[in-house]
Amino acid sequence: KLNSHPAGRHFLQIPGPSTVPDRILRAMDYPTIDHRGPEFQALGKKVLADIKTIFQTANPVVIYPASGTGAWEAALVNTLSPGDTVLMVETGHFATLWKKMADKLGLNAEFLGGDWRRGADAAQIEARLAEDKEHKIKAVCVVHNETSTGVTSDIPAVRRAIDKANHPALLLVDTISSLGSIDYRHDEWGVDVTVSGSQKGLMLPPGLSFNAVSDKAIAASQRAGLSKAYWGWGEILEANKNGFWPYTPATNLLYGLSEACDMLAEEGLQNVFARHQRHAAATREAVKAWGMEILCQNPAEYSGVLTAVVMPRDASGQHYNADAFRKAVLENFNMSLGQGLTKLSGWVFRIGHLGDFNDLTLMGTLAGVEMGFEVAGVPHQKGGVLAAMKHLTATAGNNEKLA
Ligand code: PLP
Repeated sequence: KLNSHPAGRHFLQIPGPSTVPDRILRAMDYPTIDHRGPEFQALGKKVLADIKTIFQTANPVVIYPASGTGAWEAALVNTLSPGDTVLMVETGHFATLWKKMADKLGLNAEFLGGDWRRGADAAQIEARLAEDKEHKIKAVCVVHNETSTGVTSDIPAVRRAIDKANHPALLLVDTISSLGSIDYRHDEWGVDVTVSGSQKGLMLPPGLSFNAVSDKAIAASQRAGLSKAYWGWGEILEANKNGFWPYTPATNLLYGLSEACDMLAEEGLQNVFARHQRHAAATREAVKAWGMEILCQNPAEYSGVLTAVVMPRDASGQHYNADAFRKAVLENFNMSLGQGLTKLSGWVFRIGHLGDFNDLTLMGTLAGVEMGFEVAGVPHQKGGVLAAMKHLTATAGNNEKLA
């Protein structure tokens, strides 16, 4: 039974929320100030400037006091009109939820089917857009890092597909679990709205979310007919010019955001990305050594943020239960691993390796997984931890280009 006060730190190795570092916790532990006063104005201007560097954009980024789902809705209602056709790509659980939201909002959402083991297929998107001679499709929506599967889609390839089809559709991308962890370039990749959230690569608690916007998205927002009030970009962008918001912002989360941006800048974004790739590669070495299967089937699309692992099968062909295994890990080692979501429930678990995370955090995580297999009676080959250690020692101290 889980001790009510287990000694040591809990290992929060789900693929977000990620562990909030002490430095950010301390930054948020500061009195809430007047959100219309000069001290807040300086903070507002700083975070609105800093956050652009994380999205790699020169354009504005709208910050909402909402979870990522709110920013999904904002992206749709600001750019589209009732009945508009949107092309969405079924990469997994989160892409499916975004599609369901589009349906609820009165959009005509077309879903390009997928098997939840691969990323968006740019050739398929290009073919569908090429067929759409009347340009009925107003937006293409893709999840960059599908958190349910550990698959990262190639966004530049999707951009090229839209361009090759010579199609005017907007490109909307969900980076809720990739921003600040996997390289992502809003401007260079020609994305119109990038949606993100605070609780993963930004190392913050849940509660903030984002829309990075292009000029084309802002132009679309002036014509878009879906109902919106709170989510509307117009008033927010206007107030943001002076470092304020048209409502009470999440002041203490913004203190945290300011600190998070400083931390990412101090490490250097490219180093942050390389660190994530290196830890993901070491994790895959462990999974292979255990003799287990990685859910993602295309090595070019392996996620730097999480690894989804398929549970082995018993003699009757049934998967060993992923949730019983995760329960054993939580109860014995005080570590939370990610569950399999919807279609993946019970036979897949996810190891999060993102955010405020280093070599020894990874070793603790993988040791907890390997010990958990033993305790839960999940058959595996020994040596996963050792294989990851070998990868980390061979690349020690170098988080650059060694993934
Ligand atoms: N999209 C992706 C890729 C996610 O990982 C998540 C949450 O994990 C969401 C959307 C939904 O975000 P939220 O739970 O913050 O509303």
